[in-house]
Amino acid sequence: MSNHPGTVKFCSHCGSTDVVKDAFAEWCTDTQQWTLAIISDENDYCLSCETSTVIRERSLVAQDSNISRSP
Ligand SMILES: [Zn+2]
Repeated sequence: MSNHPGTVKFCSHCGSTDVVKDAFAEWCTDTQQWTLAIISDENDYCLSCETSTVIRERSLVAQDSNISRSP
């Protein structure tokens, strides 16, 4: 019953969500696929700015979720 809406990651410079992180992939012999092993918290990169950036995040909860609803 996970109803968590999740978050959006975006570039702190331009606001684009085309942001990536530096990471290491590890070969998994069982699945024959590269799997994500280590995700760096230091090297954020924006594909729109084409430079390193700081990735920010915001909740996917709608803005009006703070409005108290009368029953
Ligand atoms: Zn950007």
